[in-house]
Amino acid sequence: MSKFYELMPGARRQQLGDMELLERLAGPITSETSCLDRMSENVIGAWRLPLGVVPSLVVDGRSHRIAMATEEPSVVAAACRVSRLANACGGITSHADRPVTAAQIMGCASPECARDAVRWIGQNVQMLLETANRCDPALCASGGGAFALEAQILEPAPDWPETFVVAKLFVHTSDAMGANAVNTMAEALQGELSRSLSGYVPGMAILTNDGAGRMVHAHLSIPYAQFGAFAHCEGRDIAVRIARACAFAQRSPERAVTHNKGILNGIIAAALPLGQDTRALSASILHEAHRTGAHKPLTCAELREDSLEFAIHLPLPAGFVGGFKKNPSVAAAFAFDGITSYDELCALLSAIGLIQNLGALWALVTEGIQAGHMRLHVRK
Ligand code: NAD
Repeated sequence: MSKFYELMPGARRQQLGDMELLERLAGPITSETSCLDRMSENVIGAWRLPLGVVPSLVVDGRSHRIAMATEEPSVVAAACRVSRLANACGGITSHADRPVTAAQIMGCASPECARDAVRWIGQNVQMLLETANRCDPALCASGGGAFALEAQILEPAPDWPETFVVAKLFVHTSDAMGANAVNTMAEALQGELSRSLSGYVPGMAILTNDGAGRMVHAHLSIPYAQFGAFAHCEGRDIAVRIARACAFAQRSPERAVTHNKGILNGIIAAALPLGQDTRALSASILHEAHRTGAHKPLTCAELREDSLEFAIHLPLPAGFVGGFKKNPSVAAAFAFDGITSYDELCALLSAIGLIQNLGALWALVTEGIQAGHMRLHVRK
């Protein structure tokens, strides 16, 4: 198997043998396979999931179709059901903060050298930001780039006796998810610190998946009358039950973790066909849920006089530009969903998280999750 990675996908299959099994596992070799080969390592084909569709969800005044890749049939069914309600209520509104990703450039030093390092970094912020920005002219041309740098000392602890110096670089990533862009900048700064600081031992340089700088907000206002007409029952009663379910998740981390898993059901299913880094999305979203030290729900419900206000606030490290777009089926998913900008991408992902959660709570507080869920699962 030496030099396996240098082979073409078809030749890799020959080496692995059992062509019939490989055809079933990875599908036929097509013109797309060589493109996929450039995107990952040791590629032998593509692996498939069912692709369902939400035919229409109105977000910020525009109707979008949403392609969803998931093995869980009730996810698409619930999204379709609540999308009809959301559209009847005028749709979802959203807002994405200016996307900022941070990187940590870490090294070790004696306590005295560490203090000198923090002082030197503070005195050379402008030069270091220029070094970072020279790494990515295209990002800077799009209006993004590194704009802030701060340094701190992490004191020795019982589990590790060394003093850490951590420089934190903040980068506006414009239309990109920015992981590779920011990592490149962070490594360039690590090189600069290694050359300039005496007694500094470089440790690592990489972005943090803390998505505090990439928050997205989506909101749906549901008049009780609309809810009632839609569900053939007393609308305010369902709204109260849903708000109660959110309050329960606020108080119970064991409930909150499942509440948030329901949000991920929608976001991951929609993000997969769009070529997004679903691990980064999960890591950021779950970290945000745990920011206070206890697991909290990422949606909230408010009962007004005539309506239920339902909202979601979560980080979305998503990308509208990047290497993933070279995958033809990813480019097709962007076209199918009608996503033409970074803001629309964030709007759609947050909106699908919001309606997915609303659908799950709606089922839970009325007929229960099993009635619809199991009907679909038994069919599967
Ligand atoms: P990227 O997001 O890092 O960079 C996109 C590049 O596009 C920029 O560097 C810039 O030069 C260029 N660009 C052109 N027009 C732009 C515009 N309008 N706005 C912004 N940038 C513009 O892209 P990538 O290399 O595809 O990296 C993203 C991938 O990195 C993710 O999908 C993930 O798989 C991977 N990754 C993730 C982590 C992590 O989350 N911890 C770590 C490493 C790699």
